Order: sequence, then C-alpha cells, then structure tokens
Amino acid sequence: MAARKPLVVGNWKMNKTVSEGVALVRDLRPKVSMVHGVEIGVCPGFLALSAVGQALEGSNVSLGAQDCYWADAGAFTGEVSPAQLRDVGCKYVILGHSERRHQLGETSAQVKKKRDAALKAGLVPILCVGETLEEREASRTTAVVREQTEQSVGKLGAAEAAKLVVAYEPVWAIGTGKNATPEQAQEVHAMLRDLLATLLGKDTAAQTRLLYGGSVKGSNARELLAKPDVDGALVGGASLIVEDFTAIIKAKA
Ligand code: PEP
Repeated sequence: MAARKPLVVGNWKMNKTVSEGVALVRDLRPKVSMVHGVEIGVCPGFLALSAVGQALEGSNVSLGAQDCYWADAGAFTGEVSPAQLRDVGCKYVILGHSERRHQLGETSAQVKKKRDAALKAGLVPILCVGETLEEREASRTTAVVREQTEQSVGKLGAAEAAKLVVAYEPVWAIGTGKNATPEQAQEVHAMLRDLLATLLGKDTAAQTRLLYGGSVKGSNARELLAKPDVDGALVGGASLIVEDFTAIIKAKA
C-alpha cells in the first residue's frame, strides 16, 4: 500500500488583499520549490483566488478555497459553487471549519451536502472536525469528533473516499497560540482513523490523510507532524508569514 503523502495547507481566512496575496505566494514559491515530499496548498479568500492561482502557475503549490455551496449554479446570492472554484484552478476546498460551524451556524448536514458537491466537481474536500474547550473539559472530545465525522463524512464510495482529507482542529487551539500536544493530536487522529475504517473501510482509512490544525507554527510543527497518524497540517495564522509557513512545510519534508 502506498504511503500517505503529507499535506500542508494554509487557510488565510479573511486576510490579505488581492495584491498582498499575490505578493505572499511570489515570495513563497521559490522557498518551497525544492520540496518534493509534501503536497502544499494555500486557501485565499474568494476574491483573491484567480490572481493567486495565476501567480502559482507552474509551481508546486496548489490553490484551495475556504468554503463552497452545494448547488452547481442558480439563485443563491453570495454563494460560490464547486464548479466556479474548479474554473479558477482550485484543487482543495476547506469544509466545515469551526469558524463556520460556531460563528455562522453551519451544520454537519450542510457540510455533508457541500462535501458531495465538491467531490462531484473534482475538488479535494478538507473536512474539519474538532471539539470546543468546554467539550474537552467535559471529556466529550471523542463523542463530539465522532459525531461530527459520522454526520459530515458519512458513507462514501471507495473512489470518492480516497480523495477525502480530514482535519482535526480542536476549537480551543485555533488562533489561540495554544496547540494540542503531539500526544493529544495523535490520540484523536488514531481514533479518527479507526472510525474512518468503520465508515469507509480499512484500506481507505489507511490511505486517508488526517491533518492537525490549531496554532501550528514553525517552532512546534516538527513534533506534531512526527506523530504516526498526523499526515500534515491545516495552518491559519502562521500561513500568512512566509518564513513560518515554509518552516512548517519543511518540518514534514
Ligand atoms: C485554522 O484556522 O484552520 C487554524 C488552524 O488556525 P491557526 O493555525 O491560526 O490556529
């Protein structure tokens, strides 16, 4: 069975103007051009996708979006379809990020519809799950991650399941500077892989890339990414700083 190729993806959130985003990737691409062992992605805001995608042409950094809608086209004001994301060159789409689940009320049922639409359009969904601090303190981490994964991943055919990426992002670690310890991350990732084996089959689960996200920085990436079930990182704040993002990528290379 082929080894899982590590993946490091930057989630820029609602940061960077179009010109700032283009400048960032112009700076990034030569710094990672010799990295072959890690797949790399950046997810700018919708407005910057096209220009950043052009600035990445011919590089080993792929483009991703931070969300999508589940319909192909139509009267859905303000939404963006998976087909439109493909049209501007996206490879990945982040789905079910905790900021969308908790601040915008997105449900696992909606995430699942988005996942179906993204896969149908040929995008790689990066599906986020994770518990809040309150849930962790109440020893509900496993229950919450299990429920979110069951409801947003659900069952899938083997070919589609093979493309799925799952990101474990404890909400208490996102943007707080307080990352999960490597042991905490590994514990949840191992549980997730077991759960995926039940949902998608053992072979698929063994191939599914599980990313850790939550205050990953150049200084803590090596330890986190050394854990056997941590196949890469979804990086927020540190992906906006080229030196830090590069160090994270190289920590897994
Ligand atoms: C994220 O938003 O997915 C994230 C992990 O953010 P940060 O790295 O800033 O904690």
